[in-house]
Parts: sequence; C-alpha cells; structure tokens
Amino acid sequence: MNRLNAGRHKQAGAVGKILLGFVVLAMLAIGWLMLDEDSGKNIKKQAQLKTMEVIGEAAKKNLGAATEGEGTHGSAVELIRRPIEVRQVADNVYYATGVGNTVMITTSEGNVLFDTGLVLQVAEQRKALRAVSEAPVSHIVLSHSHADHIGGAKFWMEDDTEIIAHSDFEEEQRYLSELEPYQYGRNRTLFPWMPAWEDRPDIEMMRYGGIEPTVTVGDWETYSFTLGGVEFQVIGTPGAEGADNVVLWLPQQKILFSGDFFGPQFPQFPNVFTMRGEKIRKPIEYIKSLGMLLELDIETVVPSHLDPTTGAEQIHADIKKTRDAVRYVHDATVEGMNAGKSVYQLMREIKLPPELELVQNHGRVDWAVRSIWDYYAGWFHFESTTELYPVPVSDVYADLAEVAGNEGLLTLAQNYLNENQPVKALHIVEVVLAADSINQSALQIRKQALQLLLESAQNGLKNDYEIYWLQYRLTDTARRLGEEEAP
Ligand SMILES: [Zn+2]
Repeated sequence: MNRLNAGRHKQAGAVGKILLGFVVLAMLAIGWLMLDEDSGKNIKKQAQLKTMEVIGEAAKKNLGAATEGEGTHGSAVELIRRPIEVRQVADNVYYATGVGNTVMITTSEGNVLFDTGLVLQVAEQRKALRAVSEAPVSHIVLSHSHADHIGGAKFWMEDDTEIIAHSDFEEEQRYLSELEPYQYGRNRTLFPWMPAWEDRPDIEMMRYGGIEPTVTVGDWETYSFTLGGVEFQVIGTPGAEGADNVVLWLPQQKILFSGDFFGPQFPQFPNVFTMRGEKIRKPIEYIKSLGMLLELDIETVVPSHLDPTTGAEQIHADIKKTRDAVRYVHDATVEGMNAGKSVYQLMREIKLPPELELVQNHGRVDWAVRSIWDYYAGWFHFESTTELYPVPVSDVYADLAEVAGNEGLLTLAQNYLNENQPVKALHIVEVVLAADSINQSALQIRKQALQLLLESAQNGLKNDYEIYWLQYRLTDTARRLGEEEAP
C-alpha cells in the first residue's frame, strides 16, 4: 500500500477535513505568536498545547463518538476508545490512559516520565497528570521510537530535562521518518481512524521525530540514577517492538515499566514481524532480553498500553512462557530450514505446544516463522528462476485469463470456495481481475472468499492485523461491486 492508495479510501476523510480546519486556525495563531520575539518559549508552548487540546477534542468527538466501551485488548482500533484519565499504581506512580499511556513517577526532587503517548492526546494527558503534580519533569524515559510513545515528548520537555532512550533510538527514528509517507499509508489502511496523509495535521510540534536523547543505553546495559530517594534503572532490551527498546525498573518497589516490550497486551505472542511493514525484530536478541527480565523479581508490570498486571509468580511464569514460545518457534524454523523444508510448509507445520500457547491477536506464529526465515535467508528462496527477475507472476495473469477463459477460471474459483479453500479461490480470482478489474462474478467470489477468511480469523486466532486487512479488502470489494456499505 502506498501513499496514493492511502489517499483513495476516505473513511476518515471527513475527520481529516475537520482536523485540518482546526490546524489552519491554530497555525495562524502560532504564526502570530512567533512574530513577537519577546513572547518567549513558554507562551509559545502554551499556545501549542492549546492547539493540541483543540485538535485532540475534535479527534475524540469524531473518532470516538460512534464507539463505546473501553478497549480491553491491545488492538489499535479499541485503544482509541479509552477515556483519558489518571490511574494510580502506587503512592508515587500514576499514569494517564490513552492510546498510549503516559506514566509519571513523582519524587521530592521532581518527576520522571515514562513514555508520552500519542501527540493527539498530549494536551489532555498532560492536563490530567499536572492535576496530580506540577513539579518539574526531571527525566523522560522513552521506551522506543514509535509515534504512540514519543508523541508528547516535545510538549513535556523542560530546559533541564534528561531524555533517556536506547542507543539505537535515533537510528530507528531516522528510518521511520524517512519512510513516513510509505508507512503512513499502510498504517492508515489498517487503522482507518487516521486522517488521510494530505489531511493530516502538519505543524512542527506534531511532526514525528526530531527527539534527541541526552542519555543513551545500549543493548542489555543498565543506566541507573536516583532522584528524591527513588532508584531508577533503565535497561536496554532490544528485539521486542524494534531494536531500540528500553524498560524502566524501580527495584525498591519491584515495578517494571515495560513500554511495548511484551506487546500491547501481557502476555501474548510477540510481533516478531509487523505485517504493516517495519524492520524485522531480531528473535535471539528478544529471547536474551526476556531472559534478563526473568532475573528481576517483578511484582507489577505497567505497560504503555492498557493496564498494569500484578502478582510476581504469574508474571514470572508468563515472561518465561513468552521466552520459551519465541525460542520454540525460532528453533523449529531453523531446524526446518536445515531439513530442506519450504517456508510455506513450515508456516503450516509449526504450532506452539499446548504448554506454550499464547494469544496471537498481535503477533502470529506462522508470520513469525516467515519473518525468521527471511531474516536469516533473505528474499531468494531458490524455488524458481523467476524470483530473480522483476517480472512477477501477475504480469502474465491477463494473458492467462484470455487463454483459459473467464468461465473456466470462475468455475474453478467457485469449486475452491465450495471446498473451503478461500486462498486458492483468491489466487484464481486475481487472474480474472488482472484483465477485467470490475468483473462482477469474480468480485462476488472474492467477497465470499474474504468473508470466509474473516470468519475464520474472528473465530480462530483473532489476529487484529489479519482482521483489519480483510475488512479493508472487503470494503474495497464492496466499493467495486457498487455496494453502498461495507459488508
Ligand atoms: Zn505502542
């Protein structure tokens, strides 16, 4: 999916337009303030926060109005429904809820923040946390470079605030910034509440990136500091949601702030590979990081999405299970590669044993198999000469359809459907649609195949990204069929 395609579906277009209206007004206001050099940084920041508040309000009204209830698992569509409010974990530990949480640890010498949520929600989260404490922000620890964790950082930073992140943070931020248009389109396909690229709010403070840590922590290194008698340890734990993960550990209270280290939910099978398209996360490094956390006597896990988990024994068992599950999938993939099996065979064969079973709504075992394969072996699978040349099989589809005839192809596709083989049906339908992109019979079969896959996804692994993708394709199919509403 690219930027052009992203612009084509307009589910959130109206929201984007409304946001754009606010942004233009806000930019005028900020521009006016910037003309006056004496107005000072503080006034400017206040104005920008005010802007964020207005934008956040508009977004909430338009995005949240149609939904109800608070998300209970980590899907991005559900997270947008969470109300923004402050919840307390311990005497000195608070977090503001949202798509991504902003955690605040108060001390007598200032406050420490862990993650800063989504930029659209910073004004409201900041207001809620500052009602608890207005003390200076001494340190901000950023768990990784994803936008739902660093969005508010620029608004929280004060002159002397230390920004602590992983030593790969800036590199991860660089590649995510350089590929932003590409990734924005893909993300919006899956998360249609995002405004279209051309309608997105585009003011300096809201832009992704540009955060420079003042302290960095390398892989499996620990950076410790004490503030107001509270001991803090920032640990470099690569391999979870990217190469630049850190967690924050409060040894005195045995609280672990995990960011996305376990994924948006704990425990779950991790996203070793993101289907939306980021760099592959390194499995062995992740296994090592999980092993390191097993050494801590964790009593509470405070993640940067959803709510904390308590209970030392269960937490230890769940971390161990996550580590062993990733290790199992990794080793089975390597073993299969050495035995000469194809990636598709391994995707079908490798299943978690019952004692290691974990929910797969975020990461999926078969996609992890594929990503581990590609991570080690690259893109050439030694299966066909055609893999080496920029001539995909789809280049001959239209000619193939002409020779075979649509009637025979559609009968074949229907037979596959009847035999409950929707993916094979989709292969055949793609041949027909290559020559005739609005062939109604082919689109009807595509719709049924997608519905079958959606049903099995919803009744089976319930993987969010698979479900979002199938829903997006169903909407696209309905549109091509001239149907008003998505099925
Ligand atoms: Zn996240």
